Amino acid sequence: MLDVSKIRQQFPILHQEVNGYPLVYLDNGATTHKPKVVIDAIQQYYEKQNSNIHRGVHYLSQLATDEYEASRETVRKHFNADHLHEIIFTKGNTEAINLVANGFRTLLTSTDEVLVSAIEHHSNIVPWQMACESSGASLKVIPMNDKGELDMKAYESLLSNNTKVVAVNHISNALGTINPVKEIIQLAHQVGAAVLVDGAQSGPHSHIDVKDLDADFYCISGHKIYGPTGIGALYGKEEWLNKLPPYQGGGEMIATVSFKETTYATLPHKFEAGTPNIAGGIALKTAIDWLNDIGLDNVMAYENELLEYATQELAKIEGMRFIGEASNKAAVISFLVGDIHPYDMGMILDKLGIAVRTGHHCAQPVMDEFCIPGTIRASFAVYNTKEEVDRLVEGVKKAQQMLS
Ligand SMILES: *Cc1c(COP(=O)(O)O)cnc(C)c1O
Repeated sequence: MLDVSKIRQQFPILHQEVNGYPLVYLDNGATTHKPKVVIDAIQQYYEKQNSNIHRGVHYLSQLATDEYEASRETVRKHFNADHLHEIIFTKGNTEAINLVANGFRTLLTSTDEVLVSAIEHHSNIVPWQMACESSGASLKVIPMNDKGELDMKAYESLLSNNTKVVAVNHISNALGTINPVKEIIQLAHQVGAAVLVDGAQSGPHSHIDVKDLDADFYCISGHKIYGPTGIGALYGKEEWLNKLPPYQGGGEMIATVSFKETTYATLPHKFEAGTPNIAGGIALKTAIDWLNDIGLDNVMAYENELLEYATQELAKIEGMRFIGEASNKAAVISFLVGDIHPYDMGMILDKLGIAVRTGHHCAQPVMDEFCIPGTIRASFAVYNTKEEVDRLVEGVKKAQQMLS
Protein backbone atom coordinates (compact mmCIF):
# COMPACT_ATOMS: atom_id res chain seq x y z
CA MET A 1 0.00 0.00 0.00
CA LEU A 2 0.86 3.62 0.07
CA ASP A 3 2.97 5.43 2.67
CA VAL A 4 1.44 8.90 2.79
CA SER A 5 3.95 10.43 5.17
CA LYS A 6 6.75 9.34 2.87
CA ILE A 7 4.92 10.85 -0.09
CA ARG A 8 4.33 14.11 1.78
CA GLN A 9 8.03 14.42 2.54
CA GLN A 10 8.64 14.72 -1.20
CA PHE A 11 6.52 17.89 -1.47
CA PRO A 12 8.45 20.88 -0.09
CA ILE A 13 5.47 23.24 -0.42
CA LEU A 14 3.27 21.23 1.94
CA HIS A 15 5.50 21.91 4.91
CA GLN A 16 4.56 25.47 5.65
CA GLU A 17 2.13 27.41 7.78
CA VAL A 18 -0.61 29.57 6.34
CA ASN A 19 -2.15 32.15 8.66
CA GLY A 20 -0.54 30.39 11.60
CA TYR A 21 -1.82 26.90 10.76
CA PRO A 22 -0.14 24.01 8.94
CA LEU A 23 -1.30 24.23 5.33
CA VAL A 24 -4.14 21.93 4.28
CA TYR A 25 -4.19 21.97 0.49
CA LEU A 26 -7.46 20.72 -0.98
CA ASP A 27 -7.45 22.55 -4.30
CA ASN A 28 -5.88 19.81 -6.37
CA GLY A 29 -8.57 20.04 -9.03
CA ALA A 30 -7.14 23.46 -9.90
CA THR A 31 -3.52 22.35 -9.77
CA THR A 32 -1.47 19.78 -7.89
CA HIS A 33 1.82 20.42 -6.14
CA LYS A 34 5.10 19.10 -7.52
CA PRO A 35 7.33 16.52 -5.87
CA LYS A 36 10.99 17.37 -5.38
CA VAL A 37 12.05 15.15 -8.31
CA VAL A 38 9.95 17.24 -10.71
CA ILE A 39 11.36 20.51 -9.36
CA ASP A 40 14.86 19.03 -9.64
CA ALA A 41 14.26 17.94 -13.23
CA ILE A 42 13.41 21.53 -14.21
CA GLN A 43 16.48 22.89 -12.44
CA GLN A 44 18.73 20.22 -13.89
CA TYR A 45 17.51 21.00 -17.38
CA TYR A 46 18.48 24.65 -17.10
CA GLU A 47 21.75 23.89 -15.34
CA LYS A 48 22.97 21.04 -17.52
CA GLN A 49 20.91 20.53 -20.68
CA ASN A 50 19.45 23.83 -21.84
CA SER A 51 19.45 24.09 -25.63
CA ASN A 52 16.94 24.35 -28.43
CA ILE A 53 15.67 21.02 -29.69
CA HIS A 54 15.36 19.31 -33.09
CA ARG A 55 17.83 21.69 -34.74
CA GLY A 56 21.40 21.71 -33.47
CA VAL A 57 24.02 19.10 -34.25
CA HIS A 58 25.88 20.08 -31.10
CA TYR A 59 26.03 18.06 -27.91
CA LEU A 60 23.57 20.02 -25.78
CA SER A 61 20.96 20.24 -28.49
CA GLN A 62 21.15 16.48 -28.98
CA LEU A 63 20.88 15.91 -25.26
CA ALA A 64 17.85 18.20 -24.85
CA THR A 65 16.19 16.64 -27.91
CA ASP A 66 16.75 13.11 -26.60
CA GLU A 67 15.31 13.99 -23.18
CA TYR A 68 12.31 15.75 -24.69
CA GLU A 69 11.58 12.88 -27.07
CA ALA A 70 12.01 10.37 -24.25
CA SER A 71 9.17 12.19 -22.54
CA ARG A 72 6.98 11.74 -25.61
CA GLU A 73 7.63 8.01 -25.38
CA THR A 74 6.67 8.03 -21.68
CA VAL A 75 3.42 9.79 -22.52
CA ARG A 76 2.73 7.33 -25.34
CA LYS A 77 3.13 4.41 -22.98
CA HIS A 78 1.07 6.14 -20.31
CA PHE A 79 -1.77 6.56 -22.83
CA ASN A 80 -1.20 3.11 -24.30
CA ALA A 81 -1.11 4.70 -27.76
CA ASP A 82 0.26 2.80 -30.76
CA HIS A 83 2.44 5.49 -32.27
CA LEU A 84 4.83 8.08 -30.95
CA HIS A 85 3.72 10.54 -33.63
CA GLU A 86 0.19 10.42 -32.24
CA ILE A 87 1.41 12.33 -29.16
CA ILE A 88 1.41 16.13 -29.49
CA PHE A 89 2.88 18.31 -26.77
CA THR A 90 0.68 21.27 -25.87
CA LYS A 91 0.75 23.88 -23.15
CA GLY A 92 -2.19 22.28 -21.41
CA ASN A 93 -5.71 21.04 -21.96
CA THR A 94 -7.03 24.41 -23.03
CA GLU A 95 -4.56 24.49 -25.89
CA ALA A 96 -5.13 20.84 -26.78
CA ILE A 97 -8.89 21.35 -27.14
CA ASN A 98 -8.38 24.58 -29.09
CA LEU A 99 -6.00 22.76 -31.41
CA VAL A 100 -8.60 20.10 -32.21
CA ALA A 101 -11.65 22.41 -32.30
CA ASN A 102 -9.80 24.89 -34.48
CA GLY A 103 -8.95 22.11 -36.92
CA PHE A 104 -12.59 21.07 -37.09
CA ARG A 105 -13.61 24.57 -38.19
CA THR A 106 -12.53 23.63 -41.67
CA LEU A 107 -14.11 20.16 -41.58
CA LEU A 108 -17.54 21.11 -40.20
CA THR A 109 -20.41 22.29 -42.39
CA SER A 110 -23.66 24.06 -41.56
CA THR A 111 -25.66 20.83 -41.24
CA ASP A 112 -23.17 19.28 -38.81
CA GLU A 113 -23.57 19.03 -35.06
CA VAL A 114 -21.10 19.04 -32.17
CA LEU A 115 -22.14 17.55 -28.83
CA VAL A 116 -20.68 18.63 -25.51
CA SER A 117 -21.96 17.65 -22.09
CA ALA A 118 -23.68 19.78 -19.48
CA ILE A 119 -20.82 19.19 -17.08
CA GLU A 120 -17.88 20.48 -19.12
CA HIS A 121 -15.11 22.86 -18.14
CA HIS A 122 -15.30 26.13 -20.08
CA SER A 123 -12.28 25.01 -22.07
CA ASN A 124 -14.30 22.13 -23.53
CA ILE A 125 -17.23 24.41 -24.38
CA VAL A 126 -15.93 27.71 -25.73
CA PRO A 127 -13.54 26.35 -28.41
CA TRP A 128 -16.44 24.29 -29.80
CA GLN A 129 -18.76 27.29 -29.73
CA MET A 130 -16.13 29.16 -31.73
CA ALA A 131 -15.75 26.28 -34.19
CA CYS A 132 -19.53 26.14 -34.64
CA GLU A 133 -19.78 29.88 -35.07
CA SER A 134 -17.27 29.99 -37.87
CA SER A 135 -18.49 26.85 -39.65
CA GLY A 136 -22.23 27.29 -39.15
CA ALA A 137 -22.50 23.94 -37.33
CA SER A 138 -24.74 23.64 -34.25
CA LEU A 139 -23.71 22.91 -30.69
CA LYS A 140 -25.92 20.49 -28.74
CA VAL A 141 -25.71 19.72 -25.02
CA ILE A 142 -25.93 16.27 -23.42
CA PRO A 143 -28.00 16.90 -20.27
CA MET A 144 -27.31 15.60 -16.75
CA ASN A 145 -29.59 14.32 -14.02
CA ASP A 146 -29.86 15.87 -10.55
CA LYS A 147 -27.00 13.70 -9.28
CA GLY A 148 -24.69 15.22 -11.86
CA GLU A 149 -24.57 12.13 -14.08
CA LEU A 150 -24.94 12.35 -17.84
CA ASP A 151 -28.31 11.31 -19.20
CA MET A 152 -27.25 8.51 -21.52
CA LYS A 153 -30.76 8.06 -22.98
CA ALA A 154 -30.81 11.70 -23.98
CA TYR A 155 -27.31 11.33 -25.37
CA GLU A 156 -28.39 8.45 -27.61
CA SER A 157 -31.31 10.42 -28.94
CA LEU A 158 -29.11 13.42 -29.69
CA LEU A 159 -26.75 11.31 -31.80
CA SER A 160 -27.46 11.27 -35.53
CA ASN A 161 -25.65 11.17 -38.83
CA ASN A 162 -25.19 14.92 -38.44
CA THR A 163 -23.10 14.44 -35.30
CA LYS A 164 -19.47 15.02 -36.23
CA VAL A 165 -17.81 15.53 -32.86
CA VAL A 166 -18.58 14.57 -29.26
CA ALA A 167 -16.48 16.33 -26.61
CA VAL A 168 -16.73 15.17 -23.00
CA ASN A 169 -14.58 15.08 -19.92
CA HIS A 170 -13.52 11.80 -18.36
CA ILE A 171 -13.96 13.20 -14.84
CA SER A 172 -15.83 16.42 -14.08
CA ASN A 173 -13.70 18.97 -12.24
CA ALA A 174 -16.78 20.62 -10.74
CA LEU A 175 -18.66 17.54 -9.52
CA GLY A 176 -16.23 14.62 -9.58
CA THR A 177 -18.54 12.59 -11.85
CA ILE A 178 -16.69 9.83 -13.72
CA ASN A 179 -18.29 9.65 -17.13
CA PRO A 180 -18.82 6.35 -19.00
CA VAL A 181 -16.50 7.46 -21.78
CA LYS A 182 -16.06 4.03 -23.32
CA GLU A 183 -19.79 3.72 -23.88
CA ILE A 184 -19.98 7.35 -25.06
CA ILE A 185 -17.29 6.64 -27.63
CA GLN A 186 -18.88 3.39 -28.85
CA LEU A 187 -22.19 5.12 -29.44
CA ALA A 188 -20.56 8.08 -31.18
CA HIS A 189 -18.64 5.79 -33.49
CA GLN A 190 -21.87 4.14 -34.59
CA VAL A 191 -22.79 7.42 -36.29
CA GLY A 192 -19.22 8.13 -37.43
CA ALA A 193 -18.52 10.98 -34.99
CA ALA A 194 -15.08 11.65 -33.55
CA VAL A 195 -14.75 11.83 -29.77
CA LEU A 196 -12.47 14.10 -27.79
CA VAL A 197 -11.98 13.17 -24.13
CA ASP A 198 -10.83 15.91 -21.78
CA GLY A 199 -8.70 13.96 -19.32
CA ALA A 200 -7.49 16.89 -17.19
CA GLN A 201 -8.98 15.33 -14.05
CA SER A 202 -8.53 11.66 -14.91
CA GLY A 203 -4.81 12.07 -15.57
CA PRO A 204 -3.77 12.08 -11.90
CA HIS A 205 -6.36 9.60 -10.66
CA SER A 206 -6.86 6.76 -13.11
CA HIS A 207 -5.42 4.60 -15.85
CA ILE A 208 -5.67 5.93 -19.37
CA ASP A 209 -5.96 3.51 -22.25
CA VAL A 210 -6.81 5.24 -25.49
CA LYS A 211 -6.84 1.94 -27.37
CA ASP A 212 -9.27 0.26 -25.03
CA LEU A 213 -11.47 3.37 -25.06
CA ASP A 214 -11.00 3.75 -28.82
CA ALA A 215 -10.74 7.52 -28.19
CA ASP A 216 -10.05 9.73 -31.19
CA PHE A 217 -8.51 12.47 -29.06
CA TYR A 218 -7.52 12.40 -25.41
CA CYS A 219 -5.69 15.17 -23.54
CA ILE A 220 -4.02 15.63 -20.18
CA SER A 221 -2.54 18.62 -18.45
CA GLY A 222 0.90 18.48 -16.81
CA HIS A 223 0.15 20.74 -13.89
CA LYS A 224 -2.74 18.55 -12.75
CA ILE A 225 -0.65 15.40 -12.63
CA TYR A 226 2.15 16.64 -10.35
CA GLY A 227 4.05 18.16 -13.29
CA PRO A 228 4.81 21.76 -14.30
CA THR A 229 2.42 24.34 -15.72
CA GLY A 230 2.61 25.18 -19.40
CA ILE A 231 2.87 21.59 -20.62
CA GLY A 232 0.31 18.98 -21.56
CA ALA A 233 -0.16 16.20 -24.05
CA LEU A 234 -2.74 15.45 -26.69
CA TYR A 235 -3.25 12.00 -28.15
CA GLY A 236 -4.87 11.96 -31.56
CA LYS A 237 -5.52 8.99 -33.83
CA GLU A 238 -3.18 9.19 -36.77
CA GLU A 239 -5.99 9.35 -39.32
CA TRP A 240 -7.59 12.30 -37.53
CA LEU A 241 -4.34 14.17 -37.01
CA ASN A 242 -3.68 13.80 -40.73
CA LYS A 243 -7.13 15.20 -41.55
CA LEU A 244 -6.82 18.24 -39.30
CA PRO A 245 -5.00 21.31 -40.63
CA PRO A 246 -2.06 22.69 -38.61
CA TYR A 247 -2.95 24.80 -35.59
CA GLN A 248 -0.24 27.46 -35.63
CA GLY A 249 2.28 28.32 -38.31
CA GLY A 250 5.96 28.91 -37.70
CA GLY A 251 9.21 27.12 -37.22
CA GLU A 252 9.33 23.42 -36.42
CA MET A 253 5.95 22.67 -38.08
CA ILE A 254 7.18 23.01 -41.66
CA ALA A 255 8.95 20.74 -44.14
CA THR A 256 9.89 23.44 -46.67
CA VAL A 257 9.13 27.15 -46.85
CA SER A 258 9.16 29.43 -49.84
CA PHE A 259 7.07 32.48 -50.70
CA LYS A 260 5.28 30.44 -53.31
CA GLU A 261 4.43 27.45 -51.18
CA THR A 262 5.05 26.00 -47.76
CA THR A 263 4.74 22.32 -46.98
CA TYR A 264 4.07 21.03 -43.52
CA ALA A 265 6.11 18.73 -41.33
CA THR A 266 4.94 15.22 -40.64
CA LEU A 267 3.30 14.25 -37.33
CA PRO A 268 3.71 15.19 -34.55
CA HIS A 269 5.69 18.31 -35.55
CA LYS A 270 2.91 19.60 -37.80
CA PHE A 271 1.13 20.66 -34.61
CA GLU A 272 4.15 21.85 -32.67
CA ALA A 273 5.07 25.28 -34.04
CA GLY A 274 7.80 27.23 -32.33
CA THR A 275 10.11 26.47 -29.43
CA PRO A 276 8.12 24.41 -26.94
CA ASN A 277 8.26 24.27 -23.15
CA ILE A 278 11.29 21.98 -23.22
CA ALA A 279 11.95 21.97 -19.48
CA GLY A 280 8.25 21.31 -18.88
CA GLY A 281 8.20 18.45 -21.36
CA ILE A 282 11.18 16.80 -19.72
CA ALA A 283 9.74 17.30 -16.23
CA LEU A 284 6.40 15.87 -17.37
CA LYS A 285 8.18 12.57 -17.90
CA THR A 286 9.52 12.77 -14.35
CA ALA A 287 6.01 13.43 -13.02
CA ILE A 288 4.46 10.51 -14.91
CA ASP A 289 7.27 8.18 -13.84
CA TRP A 290 6.83 9.34 -10.25
CA LEU A 291 3.09 8.67 -10.37
CA ASN A 292 3.56 5.26 -11.95
CA ASP A 293 6.15 4.35 -9.31
CA ILE A 294 3.52 4.87 -6.62
CA GLY A 295 1.11 2.94 -8.82
CA LEU A 296 -2.19 4.24 -10.09
CA ASP A 297 -4.10 1.38 -8.45
CA ASN A 298 -2.69 2.43 -5.08
CA VAL A 299 -3.50 6.06 -5.81
CA MET A 300 -7.09 5.24 -6.76
CA ALA A 301 -7.66 3.02 -3.73
CA TYR A 302 -6.23 5.61 -1.35
CA GLU A 303 -8.12 8.55 -2.85
CA ASN A 304 -11.34 6.55 -2.70
CA GLU A 305 -10.73 6.03 0.99
CA LEU A 306 -10.29 9.77 1.44
CA LEU A 307 -13.44 10.44 -0.59
CA GLU A 308 -15.54 8.05 1.47
CA TYR A 309 -14.20 9.32 4.77
CA ALA A 310 -14.62 12.99 3.84
CA THR A 311 -18.13 12.43 2.47
CA GLN A 312 -19.16 10.57 5.62
CA GLU A 313 -17.71 13.20 7.98
CA LEU A 314 -18.97 16.23 6.05
CA ALA A 315 -22.45 14.67 5.87
CA LYS A 316 -22.69 14.96 9.67
CA ILE A 317 -22.66 18.76 9.43
CA GLU A 318 -26.08 20.36 9.70
CA GLY A 319 -27.24 21.96 6.47
CA MET A 320 -24.65 20.10 4.39
CA ARG A 321 -25.68 19.83 0.75
CA PHE A 322 -23.51 17.89 -1.69
CA ILE A 323 -23.58 19.12 -5.28
CA GLY A 324 -22.90 16.14 -7.51
CA GLU A 325 -23.61 12.71 -6.09
CA ALA A 326 -22.81 10.46 -9.00
CA SER A 327 -22.56 6.78 -8.13
CA ASN A 328 -19.23 6.67 -9.97
CA LYS A 329 -17.25 9.53 -8.52
CA ALA A 330 -13.64 10.68 -8.12
CA ALA A 331 -12.19 12.37 -5.04
CA VAL A 332 -13.80 15.74 -5.60
CA ILE A 333 -16.46 17.04 -3.20
CA SER A 334 -18.51 20.08 -4.14
CA PHE A 335 -20.80 21.32 -1.39
CA LEU A 336 -22.82 24.11 0.16
CA VAL A 337 -23.72 24.62 3.82
CA GLY A 338 -27.14 26.11 4.62
CA ASP A 339 -27.41 29.42 2.85
CA ILE A 340 -23.79 30.43 3.45
CA HIS A 341 -22.22 31.93 0.35
CA PRO A 342 -19.35 29.72 -0.87
CA TYR A 343 -17.04 32.71 -1.01
CA ASP A 344 -17.57 33.56 2.70
CA MET A 345 -16.90 29.95 3.65
CA GLY A 346 -13.75 29.90 1.50
CA MET A 347 -12.44 33.08 3.16
CA ILE A 348 -12.80 31.67 6.65
CA LEU A 349 -11.29 28.32 5.69
CA ASP A 350 -8.32 30.22 4.26
CA LYS A 351 -7.89 32.04 7.58
CA LEU A 352 -7.62 28.56 9.10
CA GLY A 353 -4.91 27.54 6.63
CA ILE A 354 -7.24 25.41 4.51
CA ALA A 355 -7.12 25.90 0.73
CA VAL A 356 -10.34 25.01 -1.10
CA ARG A 357 -11.77 26.38 -4.31
CA THR A 358 -14.94 28.45 -4.26
CA GLY A 359 -17.02 29.61 -7.19
CA HIS A 360 -18.12 28.05 -10.45
CA HIS A 361 -14.87 26.12 -11.10
CA CYS A 362 -14.82 27.18 -14.76
CA ALA A 363 -18.08 25.30 -15.21
CA GLN A 364 -20.71 28.01 -15.03
CA PRO A 365 -23.39 26.04 -16.90
CA VAL A 366 -23.20 23.34 -14.19
CA MET A 367 -23.91 25.91 -11.50
CA ASP A 368 -26.79 27.33 -13.56
CA GLU A 369 -28.34 23.85 -13.81
CA PHE A 370 -28.30 23.54 -10.03
CA CYS A 371 -29.47 27.18 -9.69
CA ILE A 372 -26.56 28.05 -7.39
CA PRO A 373 -23.89 30.73 -7.65
CA GLY A 374 -21.11 28.22 -7.06
CA THR A 375 -19.86 25.68 -4.56
CA ILE A 376 -17.07 25.05 -2.11
CA ARG A 377 -14.89 22.36 -3.62
CA ALA A 378 -12.46 20.11 -1.83
CA SER A 379 -10.44 18.07 -4.33
CA PHE A 380 -7.97 15.50 -3.10
CA ALA A 381 -4.55 14.32 -4.18
CA VAL A 382 -2.40 11.39 -3.17
CA TYR A 383 -0.61 13.46 -0.48
CA ASN A 384 -3.77 14.39 1.44
CA THR A 385 -4.57 12.70 4.75
CA LYS A 386 -7.53 11.86 6.97
CA GLU A 387 -6.19 14.38 9.49
CA GLU A 388 -6.58 17.02 6.82
CA VAL A 389 -10.15 15.89 6.24
CA ASP A 390 -10.73 16.36 9.98
CA ARG A 391 -9.26 19.87 9.75
CA LEU A 392 -11.64 20.64 6.87
CA VAL A 393 -14.65 19.37 8.81
CA GLU A 394 -13.66 21.39 11.89
CA GLY A 395 -13.06 24.43 9.70
CA VAL A 396 -16.47 24.17 8.04
CA LYS A 397 -18.15 23.88 11.46
CA LYS A 398 -16.26 26.89 12.76
CA ALA A 399 -17.15 28.94 9.69
CA GLN A 400 -20.77 27.92 10.09
CA GLN A 401 -20.81 29.18 13.70
CA MET A 402 -19.20 32.45 12.68
CA LEU A 403 -21.51 33.05 9.75
CA SER A 404 -24.88 32.13 11.22
C1 LIG B 1 -8.09 22.24 -15.58
C2 LIG B 1 -9.03 21.71 -16.56
C3 LIG B 1 -8.97 22.11 -17.89
C4 LIG B 1 -8.00 23.16 -18.39
O1 LIG B 1 -6.71 22.65 -18.43
P1 LIG B 1 -5.42 23.60 -18.46
O2 LIG B 1 -4.32 22.65 -18.71
O3 LIG B 1 -5.34 24.25 -17.12
O4 LIG B 1 -5.60 24.57 -19.56
C5 LIG B 1 -9.86 21.55 -18.78
N1 LIG B 1 -10.76 20.63 -18.37
C6 LIG B 1 -10.85 20.23 -17.11
C7 LIG B 1 -11.85 19.17 -16.73
C8 LIG B 1 -9.99 20.75 -16.15
O5 LIG B 1 -10.08 20.33 -14.89
